[in-house]
Amino acid sequence: MHAMLLDAPRRPLRAAELPDPEPPSGHVRIRVLACGVCRTDLHIYDGELTHPKLPLVLGHEIIGAVDARGAGAERFRVGDRVGIPWLAGTDGTCRYCRSGRENLCEHARFTGYDVDGGYAQYTIADEAFCFAIPDAYRDDEAAPLMCAGLIGYRSLRTAGDAERIGIYGFGAAAHIIAQVARHEGQRVFAFTRPGDAATQAFARELGAVWAGGSETAPPEELDAAIIFAPAGELVPTALRALGRGGIVVCAGIHMSTIPAFDYDLLWEERQIRSVANLTRADGREFLALAPQIPVRSWVTCYPLERANDALADLRGGKLQGAAVLIPSLGRSGTSDQSR
Ligand SMILES: [Zn+2]
Ligand SMILES: [Zn+2]
Repeated sequence: MHAMLLDAPRRPLRAAELPDPEPPSGHVRIRVLACGVCRTDLHIYDGELTHPKLPLVLGHEIIGAVDARGAGAERFRVGDRVGIPWLAGTDGTCRYCRSGRENLCEHARFTGYDVDGGYAQYTIADEAFCFAIPDAYRDDEAAPLMCAGLIGYRSLRTAGDAERIGIYGFGAAAHIIAQVARHEGQRVFAFTRPGDAATQAFARELGAVWAGGSETAPPEELDAAIIFAPAGELVPTALRALGRGGIVVCAGIHMSTIPAFDYDLLWEERQIRSVANLTRADGREFLALAPQIPVRSWVTCYPLERANDALADLRGGKLQGAAVLIPSLGRSGTSDQSR
C-alpha cells in the first residue's frame, strides 16, 4: 500500500510502499476513504509530543470501509463505513477506565501516534473503538468530525452552559463547534490571528455574533472561553475576557508556556482546565447530534501524496475549516470541496 511515513520529527513525510497490514483478532482492516489533518499531527511532526512510534503513519481522523476482519471481529461487515478516532485502545481495567474516564486511561493507545494511522491506503483498528458514521456525511466531510468535532464537542460540554462563549483559534474544531453552540442558543465570540479578516468573516458566516483578533477585548464579558490555538499567552488573555465564575478550557494537546499572571485574573471563582482525548461515549453522543443540527464541515481535499502540503497549509493558517487527505485522488487531482 501507499503510505506517507514520518521517519523522524521535523523530517518531511516520505512516500513509501508498505505491505498491506493484516488485522489481528478483534481488529478490522480499513480501506481509507478520507483522513483529516489535525493540529496534533503538527505537534507530533514538530517533536512536541515526544514518544511517537517511529517510523509512523500519522492521521487520526479516518473514514474508511471495512476491508478485512481479524478473528472474532464481528461488529461490522466487510464494506461497512466506519470512523477511527484518536483513541485507539485502552486497558479497560485502570481506575480511570473503571470510572467512565477512559480518555484518561493509564495505558491508552492513540491512532497515528502509538499505532499507525490514516495517511495511507489501509490501516488497522480495534473494532471496539470504531464509530458508525451517519449516512448524511460524505467521506471528506465526515473526517474532521473524528477529532476536531469530537474533542471540540467534549470541550464545549466542559465549558458548561455558558450564554456567551469565546473561541480562541478559529480552525477545524472551532468551525464545527460554533455550529453546535449556536444551535444550543449560545452566543459565540470568535478570536482569530490578529488581522485575519477572512477567518473573522468565516466565523460570522457560521453564526458568531462577534469576531476579532485575539489581542482584542470582546465587546462584553464572556462566561466561558475555549482555547484551540496552541499559544499559552492566550490563557491570561482569555481570563481577562471572562466575567465572574467563568471558565477557560484549553482544548489542545500541546501549548506553549503559559506566562505568569496576577491572581486577580483567577479570583472570583474563575477556572482554567484542560480537555484530554475523548471517550467513546463522547463520540456516540456527538455523532448522534451532528446530523440533527445539522453540523456541516468545510474541507479542502488533497491527494495522499500531498500530505506535506496539507500540513504546511495548516501551519500557515491558509485553510478555512479542515484539510483532508484522499488516497483515491491522483497526485495532480487537488480539489477544493468546501461547502
Ligand atoms: Zn486531532
Ligand atoms: Zn485504563
